[in-house]
Amino acid sequence: MTERIIPIVDQRDPLPLPAGGAFTPGAHIADTRGRALRDLRVSVTDRCNFRCTYCMPREVFGPDYAFLQRDQLLNFEEITRVVRLFKALGVEKVRLTGGEPLLRRNLEGLIGMLAPLGLDLTLTTNGSLLTKKARALKAAGLKRITVSLDSPDERVFQAMNDAEFPVSRVLEGIDAAAAAGLAPIKINMVVKRGVNDTSILPMARHFRGSGHIVRFIEFMDVGATNGWRMDEVIPSSEIVRMISAEMPLEPAAAHYTGEVAARWRYADGAGEIGVISSVTQAFCRDCTRLRLSTEGMLYTCLFASKGNDLRALLRSGASDADLQAGIARLWQARSDRYSEIRTEATAREPRIEMSYIGG
Ligand code: SAM
Ligand code: SF4
Ligand code: SF4
Repeated sequence: MTERIIPIVDQRDPLPLPAGGAFTPGAHIADTRGRALRDLRVSVTDRCNFRCTYCMPREVFGPDYAFLQRDQLLNFEEITRVVRLFKALGVEKVRLTGGEPLLRRNLEGLIGMLAPLGLDLTLTTNGSLLTKKARALKAAGLKRITVSLDSPDERVFQAMNDAEFPVSRVLEGIDAAAAAGLAPIKINMVVKRGVNDTSILPMARHFRGSGHIVRFIEFMDVGATNGWRMDEVIPSSEIVRMISAEMPLEPAAAHYTGEVAARWRYADGAGEIGVISSVTQAFCRDCTRLRLSTEGMLYTCLFASKGNDLRALLRSGASDADLQAGIARLWQARSDRYSEIRTEATAREPRIEMSYIGG
């Protein structure tokens, strides 16, 4: 009998309040490696209607799995307050994620509350509900969108989402998002050797010339339940070589420091692709991201084994200044660089699941 894997979701420390004087409002804050705080990822639900094998394997996230209950989630007012405080701390970009963010009831209501803050506001989705929601999301103030799609091939896609979800519905969702004006759309494909590597070229061919940007992501050892092995990772360099052999590519400059995807453009002008080499070419040096989980825990790294409890402070009547000071102190103490020190052994260490922490 195989050992049952228990996902970890609730390791936390309090978010301590500084004794005073640690943070001047409006000041730029940097962590111990000199990295500024610029991006916030906000998870709005830990639930999902897919069971992607690399993220929420069905044998772990089955019918008995205890997802968060409503009163545990940050509500829209709490999220908006926190995002406003983060803006004052230097955050410029906010990405809503999950779980599947479009499963959160009235997500467009939250977007409508966040949009006036004037941040670069975007969303990552599996696309399953986009046909229904794209126009409302745009009308509420969403600027851009990223859709995950692991293969244009029905059999391969369904084997990966493990929810019998047809590829045609995601493609329709992408079209609906483009029609609603959420373009240019980024399309994330996680590549696993022996599972969907035969879909690399078909994906590139399918979206070449569409204006959408496919980003090939190296399979990562997020969480502790996806059975990650190094030999299942296809290095981005191999992906670029493979595509370039048929559709020549040339490197393109990054849009900004800290951009996660390395950009490549088609030499004939038919658009661009991106590769996210989190395993083979770690980008911790420029990592300016902080994650806020669905229940208000803060994580300074995607591979964290513990979060810091912002919700407890929020619900204990802390002032804006106290909350900002606590966040600033957390960031100033940050030294994470997991992807730079990853080994097969570290990949087996316990850590929080990605669907909980927010992808
Ligand atoms: N449900 C939404 C979706 O799939 O787009 C948002 C959340 S999902 C956790 C965010 C992103 O993380 C997706 O693009 C997904 O493919 C990626 N992801 C999940 N598990 C991964 C893994 N083990 N390695 C690399 N990327 C992963
Ligand atoms: Fe759901 Fe996204 Fe994870 Fe797939 S990657 S199981 S769609 S949260
Ligand atoms: Fe950032 Fe952690 Fe990923 Fe490094 S491993 S890039 S510190 S989230």
